[in-house]
Amino acid sequence: MGEADSTWDRQRKEFFFDRHPGVFQMVMHYYRTEELHTDQNFCGNIIQGELIFWGLTELDIEPCCWGHYSKYKEHKETLAALDDNFTQQNDEEAWQEKLTGFKRFKHRVWQFMEEPSMSRGAKVSDTIGDVMGVQSSSVG
Ligand SMILES: [Zn+2]
Repeated sequence: MGEADSTWDRQRKEFFFDRHPGVFQMVMHYYRTEELHTDQNFCGNIIQGELIFWGLTELDIEPCCWGHYSKYKEHKETLAALDDNFTQQNDEEAWQEKLTGFKRFKHRVWQFMEEPSMSRGAKVSDTIGDVMGVQSSSVG
């Protein structure tokens, strides 16, 4: 992102997101209900990229939508690793972590949308960095 934070429009003084509108609806639904469901009209690869942008991971996707989404996964090894993580979500401690993760996510979206500060772009960049870091460490 760097200097040219492309989400900040200087002239209109507002943030502009050139992101997938359908996936944005999924994210907003998650923001309201804490349940992430995927629209089956969209390729899972698009969804995955958008989720990363918004500071989410595919592990946030509800089980009912996981089958559709996972069809797009290319690497069986990755899928197996995710499967393990998914199973662990059943234990209560992991569930608590998930809730904590959601609160963090919600707080970030709130900051992003409500806080009248130009530092928001930087915060979102940090979020993306966190997600990437988590992903690479858990898969590798
Ligand atoms: Zn669903």
